[in-house]
Amino acid sequence: MRVAEIFYSLQGEGALTGVPSVFVRVSGCNLRCDWCDTPYASWNPEGEEWTLDAILAEVTRHPARHVVLTGGEPMLARELPELARRLRAGGYHLTIETAGTLPPAGIACDLASISPKLSNSTPSEARAGAAWRRRHEETRLNFDALRAWADGYETQWKFVIASDADLAEMREVLAALGRPIEPWRVLLMPEGTDVATLRGRQEFLIAAAKTHGYRLSPRLHIEWFGNKRGT
Ligand code: SF4
Repeated sequence: MRVAEIFYSLQGEGALTGVPSVFVRVSGCNLRCDWCDTPYASWNPEGEEWTLDAILAEVTRHPARHVVLTGGEPMLARELPELARRLRAGGYHLTIETAGTLPPAGIACDLASISPKLSNSTPSEARAGAAWRRRHEETRLNFDALRAWADGYETQWKFVIASDADLAEMREVLAALGRPIEPWRVLLMPEGTDVATLRGRQEFLIAAAKTHGYRLSPRLHIEWFGNKRGT
């Protein structure tokens, strides 16, 4: 499969924040989020073809028991189920970070970290072209796929929130999902790729988290390492 990068770092978001983990970033994405912070795995996909044996060998070089399959959209990779199976068989705790546009189809996974995309993700026609803008808008929410993840997996739900309107839209998405997602599994993430921007947007999210029982996910890897590849 095409891999943009494999690196060892600390998980900076969500339930496993601070846990040393090997990240396997699969290249390629079926969305074009306006604020995407990994364009080298989506807008301009980079990377080499890796065999599963080579990926496993690279993972085992590091002293981690946690592996994160991320992207891009890792669920696009045909070999991902076999990679997940082999990692689980090797005793690793496995997180899959996905936008949830594709169904899990029984993939092995300990934590599904799902980030459904709100309308704030849709790029302008000037930036993405009419075809990609339309494709993004048609693809970003697949409720059947989201329900399959909710029904079969340990989940957390990450949303990029920048305004009251985003918060209201997120609540509509959760209601349309029709599944009893506990509020503490819902992570509010500020949009931004530098510490000042993230902190500036945090106050509003803290208030929203306290009001609704959601969780704040401040993207600590940017605070720890900056917005750099390999972190
Ligand atoms: S789904 Fe993720 S990787 Fe794909 S464009 Fe959106 S933010 Fe980037």
